[in-house]
Amino acid sequence: MIENKNQELTPLSALGEFALIDHLTKNFKIKQKSTVRGIGDDAAVLEFNDAKVVVSTDLLIEGVHFDLSYMPLKHLGYKAVIINLSDIYAMNAKASQITVSIAISNRFPLEALEELYSGIETASEIYNIDVVGGDTTSSTTGLLISITAIGEVLEENVVYRNGANQNDLIVVTGDLGAAYLGLQILEREKQVYKVNPNNQPDLDQYSYLIERQLKPEARRDIVTLLNELKVKPTSMIDISDGLSSEIMHLCKHSKVGCDLYENKIPLDPQVISTCEEFGMDSTTIALNGGEDYELLFTVSQEDYPKLKANPNLTVIGYIREENAGMHLITRAESKIPLKAQGWNALNDQT
Ligand code: ADP
Ligand code: MG
Repeated sequence: MIENKNQELTPLSALGEFALIDHLTKNFKIKQKSTVRGIGDDAAVLEFNDAKVVVSTDLLIEGVHFDLSYMPLKHLGYKAVIINLSDIYAMNAKASQITVSIAISNRFPLEALEELYSGIETASEIYNIDVVGGDTTSSTTGLLISITAIGEVLEENVVYRNGANQNDLIVVTGDLGAAYLGLQILEREKQVYKVNPNNQPDLDQYSYLIERQLKPEARRDIVTLLNELKVKPTSMIDISDGLSSEIMHLCKHSKVGCDLYENKIPLDPQVISTCEEFGMDSTTIALNGGEDYELLFTVSQEDYPKLKANPNLTVIGYIREENAGMHLITRAESKIPLKAQGWNALNDQT
């Protein structure tokens, strides 16, 4: 699809770097008060008055973090923004700006980059953020995209990973495991397609899983909700590598232990049915799947009445003292130590 065989596609060499940047960014409008100067100078100028500034960055590499045979470029642009915003929200902050850096090989025509940027633009509109800069360079192989997200938060509202206290409740947003299963479905269909390109897959029963993989959302709504409820979590992290490794990060940074309850872990019905179909254990998938971009946080028990009725939030366990260790209490009420089998960026590239 993105091979430049079609006569109607425009090679990047027809534009040159500056015309390309202009072309891709001409629709971006400044929406945030804190953006004093956006794209076009040597650096962006931002002004945050009394707030603290939070910054987070991610690098995505073709063939390692995404596969363009089933990831449309528009979705890739959208998702690259989302995964960065998720880190800003995990600090209990408001996201306000991003910069976008890309390295591209000449296999990509202008139209492919327009698709990528339309996804970036859609995410910027929906999440109300400004694209204030970036860098554009060539690559000899595939596509690389790096996004840096910037946000603001008052000092008294910042939530770190290290504030969890014994007896706090452990809360997770949304449901878990779907994005990983979505990836498994897409990989399976890719293999089927290789053998029989005429096969028309029926993916309706997996629609939620595929959407969670290809078009994830970040939990800006939760930051707003917590603010409205006047609940400040004692610690928070986003779930990008799986519940198990993220709760272990929270516990290690906070010097505490935890008990998670298997029967409380929120699962979508499609996760349950697909795990049954594939003979997988849904708890293992929820604990280790990754790419869910939900928030995991701890709150003092006093805050429970404010949270308990909310369908977006599920209490899945308790913080224990450090010496108690980190455990999963299974449905059969046995207590097993948590293991982090989350996706490891350095030695597992499946
Ligand atoms: P420099 O030579 O200082 O690196 P560039 O010519 O690369 O500047 O960029 C010019 C302007 O366009 C800068 O404001 C830069 O932040 C912005 N920019 C460059 N590449 C991108 C991109 N891929 N997406 C968004 N903005 C970009
Ligand atoms: Mg540059």
